[in-house]
Amino acid sequence: MLAKWWWRDRTELEAKWRKVVQNCNAMPVTRRGGGVWSTICNIEKDLGNIGINLLTLMCPKADGTGWEWHLDSTRKYTVSSLRKLIDAVSLPSDGRKTDWIRWLPNKANILLWRVRINRLATRDNLARRGVAMPSNVCPMCLSSTENLDHVMANCSTSKVVGAYMTSWVDWWPVRETTVEGFWSSLNAIGGDNITKEVRKVIGTAFFWNIWIHRNNTAFNSCVKKEIEIFRNTQFLAFEWIRCRSKSGNLLTCLSKWQSSQHHQIAEKGNQVTCLICPSDSLVTTITPLISVDRS
Ligand SMILES: [Zn+2]
Repeated sequence: MLAKWWWRDRTELEAKWRKVVQNCNAMPVTRRGGGVWSTICNIEKDLGNIGINLLTLMCPKADGTGWEWHLDSTRKYTVSSLRKLIDAVSLPSDGRKTDWIRWLPNKANILLWRVRINRLATRDNLARRGVAMPSNVCPMCLSSTENLDHVMANCSTSKVVGAYMTSWVDWWPVRETTVEGFWSSLNAIGGDNITKEVRKVIGTAFFWNIWIHRNNTAFNSCVKKEIEIFRNTQFLAFEWIRCRSKSGNLLTCLSKWQSSQHHQIAEKGNQVTCLICPSDSLVTTITPLISVDRS
């Protein structure tokens, strides 16, 4: 959006708004003046620092009446076209397919995406971006430098929660020491699509609860026991699947979900159900362990 005003400042030389801005800011606006217009002037330099030369993206129209924007087929400046270029330049592109899991709320899918590309605000990532911090130590164990793999796989807290997960589901990749290794192992396990989807939901619920716990520990000094994090992971996965599966009867009994080691998820026609938790044996009393935002 800042670049849009840079573009308009460059191309609408006779516009009234431009003259007003110039008068109000004792123009010409300089990069050192401070304020929003100074920031707009600096956008050319800021984007230059990541390899984007704005001047090469604009060229004079053939009839000499103005300027064209190279990045859009309409030849007019669009914020989205520049946004895509910035993303292409600044975000890692390793060819990995992005998972978008239908039984997860959007915010959980976004967290999973950020975990997989190492874009959580862990202390090593913040330090790389120049954010000053009193410490770079993991707030959960206070013994190791914090990075994504440590938080999700190697921290003593995540290891204990992982051990609980192993006691619950026999496929939990407890030996993995990296997030990518964890996710690859989880994807490599066989089974039909429904079973694979359930595994991914449970894996994401684990990431979600570990990250929530990490933030609560860092900012609220609220320390939970690992068994509580594990129970919250079970409950959250249960709620996500229960609320979003098409048939609505995939999971009906939290206590069975928590106690069963081998859920047998099956699809019969349009009906998706767990053979261990059949809909004709409903136990519908569910006591939430945590509140769930179903947005
Ligand atoms: Zn730790």
